[in-house]
Amino acid sequence: MIEIRDLTVRYGKKIAVENLSLKVKDGERVILMGPNGSGKTTLLRALLGLVKFEGRIFLNGREVGALSRTEIAREISYVPQIFSTPYAFTVKDFVSMGLYSHSREWWHEDRRVNDAIEMVGITNLTLKEINTLSGGELQKAIIARALVQDASYILMDEPTAHLDIRSVQEVLDIISNLKNKGIIMVSHDLNALNKIGGTVILMKNGKLIFRGTKEDSDLKRWISETFETNIREIDDFLYFPLT
Ligand code: ADP
Ligand code: MG
Repeated sequence: MIEIRDLTVRYGKKIAVENLSLKVKDGERVILMGPNGSGKTTLLRALLGLVKFEGRIFLNGREVGALSRTEIAREISYVPQIFSTPYAFTVKDFVSMGLYSHSREWWHEDRRVNDAIEMVGITNLTLKEINTLSGGELQKAIIARALVQDASYILMDEPTAHLDIRSVQEVLDIISNLKNKGIIMVSHDLNALNKIGGTVILMKNGKLIFRGTKEDSDLKRWISETFETNIREIDDFLYFPLT
């Protein structure tokens, strides 16, 4: 379980996350939505111990501040919002880096790496250089690296942003097929909500303003309020209107 108690994160005078409390159960899927600048990425960075914060965060009962990088990496893997590298690693070497928290001899864990690459459907790209992949291919490689890390939770920061329609669908399929893994996925894509389901959390101005599920009758109203725009409902699905 992830437990956040009264979390506040400041950048100088700016309060990016304010007095936020949240529990995420093992295996729970959370879609975290909120306007740009509402503190979503900052919240994830606090969970990873990458920013200073006030309040307390527990990962499976242990306080984040007391854990080493490697110990945090065993609990949580991370798919960052923007990733680029000038280095010409092969996909396989890149995915292997997810093993660093487990084994000093990561190059022996061939099977696990190949399995993760297969799971995201890019076996044909195994020996391709990472800086020559398309956006969708790169996102799959990044997810494979997170899977190899084999942590209890996977945090993803807008994993479908910048992808074309088909790649969005493929990446959401990969994510929705993950088993026995807690997921916290930042997205302002209603497709993600429609596809992955689970818990919905809305943030605005650093505060958690809604926690519920896609089935909640007042979700539509809360999303409209959070983004200050109307949304539409067709059957079970929510859409941003095109007009
Ligand atoms: P989101 O991911 O929801 O778009 P962020 O967590 O990135 O929001 O940012 C929350 C707020 O904190 C924004 O106002 C942003 O400008 C500010 N912020 C984020 N990172 C920094 C930083 N390193 N230094 C100063 N301000 C920051
Ligand atoms: Mg962000």
